[in-house]
Amino acid sequence: MEIQQNISLKKYNTFGIDVKAKRFVEVTEVYELQQLFRTEKDVFFIGGGSNMLLTSDIDKLVVLLNIKGISIDREYENDVYLTVKAGENWHEFVLWCISQNYGGIENLSLIPGNVGSCPIQNIGAYGVEVKDVITKVECVDIATQRLVSFLNLECDFGYRNSIFKNEAKGKYCITSVSFKLTRKNHNLNISYGAIETELQKNNVTNPTLKNISDAVISIRKSKLPDPKEIGNSGSF
Ligand SMILES: Cc1cc2nc3c(=O)[nH]c(=O)nc-3n(C[C@H](O)[C@H](O)[C@H](O)COP(=O)(O)OP(=O)(O)OC[C@H]3O[C@@H](n4cnc5c(N)ncnc54)[C@H](O)[C@@H]3O)c2cc1C
Repeated sequence: MEIQQNISLKKYNTFGIDVKAKRFVEVTEVYELQQLFRTEKDVFFIGGGSNMLLTSDIDKLVVLLNIKGISIDREYENDVYLTVKAGENWHEFVLWCISQNYGGIENLSLIPGNVGSCPIQNIGAYGVEVKDVITKVECVDIATQRLVSFLNLECDFGYRNSIFKNEAKGKYCITSVSFKLTRKNHNLNISYGAIETELQKNNVTNPTLKNISDAVISIRKSKLPDPKEIGNSGSF
């Protein structure tokens, strides 16, 4: 973990804005964050950089969260409990779940950003919100460097809202998110007209998780350019 000086943030935000971080550090382990917070309290986190509009150079220490890993905590006949580190890319995680036949987040396909940011605004799309599948959010408390867990109800989730945008803002770094997903009897949500139409267009009568994800991806691509190609803030 090396603190670098005067680093361009162009490649770390989806608008591709070329502002500089006076000091910049990439973190790949939770213990590195704990070490860092012993001396650094005034920090600015970047996950996927898709929900920020950087307008000027940043004086705070910019911390790029690149902590990776997916672990299966428990598996039952109908459900699976998983913990995913903050630096995992959200959409790649969704695709991985679909490949494992884990259901619950297929409607949230193609949302930019990282897993660590998903609880902050309770990401949602096409009739599903991530709060419905989150069991726990683990954080490092910046003041004490201790690991702290917020159970679902403690996250105070609302529409595009959570405790992390309110009382807890600026106090914690989210290091992992735990989910409960289905392995069987998936609760498929095709109530959004556009999904139904897309499935009909593809002659799908008995949709799988992948069919729904493909439909969502196709609808999203028809509405908005890939933010990696043309910076945009989405429409939601
Ligand atoms: C094209 C486009 C489409 C979108 N579509 C949707 C949509 O359909 N539904 C929806 O809900 N949202 C949507 N969004 C918004 C965005 O995808 C989400 O807000 C996403 O969760 C942001 O993740 P990120 O990792 O890029 O966050 P970042 O931009 O990296 O960070 C956002 C904020 O959270 C803080 N932060 C980041 N990681 C952590 C952490 N681990 N701990 C503490 N603080 C942290 C940052 O400091 C910053 O203040 C869209 C955005 C774009 C650009």
